[in-house]
Amino acid sequence: MSYYLGIDLGGTSIKAGVVDHQGRVVAKSSAATHGKDGPDAVLKDIAKLAATIVEQAKLKMDQIQAVGIGSPGPIDFENGRLASAPNLPAFRDVPIRDRIAAATGRPAFLENDANAAALAEYWIGAGQDPKIRHLVALTLGTGIGGGVVVDGKIVHGGFGNAGEAGHLIVMPNGRLCGCGQRGCIEAYASATHTAKRAAEAIEAGETSTLTDVTTKQNRALTAKDVFDAAKANDALALRIVDETALYLGITCVSLCRLLDPQIIVLAGGMVEAGDFLIDKVRQAFTSQNWQMAKPRVRIVPPQLGSDAGLIGAAAVAWNAQASSTTASQASP
Ligand SMILES: [Zn+2]
Repeated sequence: MSYYLGIDLGGTSIKAGVVDHQGRVVAKSSAATHGKDGPDAVLKDIAKLAATIVEQAKLKMDQIQAVGIGSPGPIDFENGRLASAPNLPAFRDVPIRDRIAAATGRPAFLENDANAAALAEYWIGAGQDPKIRHLVALTLGTGIGGGVVVDGKIVHGGFGNAGEAGHLIVMPNGRLCGCGQRGCIEAYASATHTAKRAAEAIEAGETSTLTDVTTKQNRALTAKDVFDAAKANDALALRIVDETALYLGITCVSLCRLLDPQIIVLAGGMVEAGDFLIDKVRQAFTSQNWQMAKPRVRIVPPQLGSDAGLIGAAAVAWNAQASSTTASQASP
């Protein structure tokens, strides 16, 4: 039996777990991220959590094959450093990988959380079937994260920026994205921008039951409001959701042309409402996809639930060791 230690570093909490070679969580725990105290304090907390969790799993640290860390990006993969993170402003160019390897005495691997999520689904989620070797995962939340697995390996690209599917451009000179580009899919189809597009239409004078939220409840619209209203057949909300689905469908078509994945996983807060959005994305995909061959890709929801982050982090260690190619590794 092999074991991996997964550490999911987030802006508010650190989740850690011991995961076996079949992706089963053997033990897990979490702690608050004291990001304001700076990287040293946070790394110390991670080391403490790692030691606790291994003990809880009734193992010794040297029985852990490797440690995987999932972190917000961008990441300098070559040197295992977290370059910066919007929700951890004190973290600038922090050598997380080497520090964790030194603290645990085990090989360590650092990966961004969207790639880790893709690996988790590839390992024991929607892409678990051994016949599946090519997978793309999109995380539809505040932004749109992306992770690409090609021939069983996560793709980093030449400069570490591959897989950023949320910043594929779907509209020339379109809406401004947080990344600075115009017309990114994220600037249309993320939860944030789906809500924003509805709010803008209302501001422009369109009528909708959503005005109850903006005027009577006096708060900003959320994507959930828009989806709920669409399900209740509000015409404006339906149009906004259909547009979101169309942009996502187009993106899936482009991903198929470039990467030919066997499976595209749509994860994140926006698909929690069930198949409502995914069904619309599938329809949009079919209407936009080329006619040269029957599409074989499956567009599916994720299979992993609340432990996805730490399983993803452990999957990073598993995948890096399994592929043992150019992975960014630090030996203790
Ligand atoms: Zn962008």
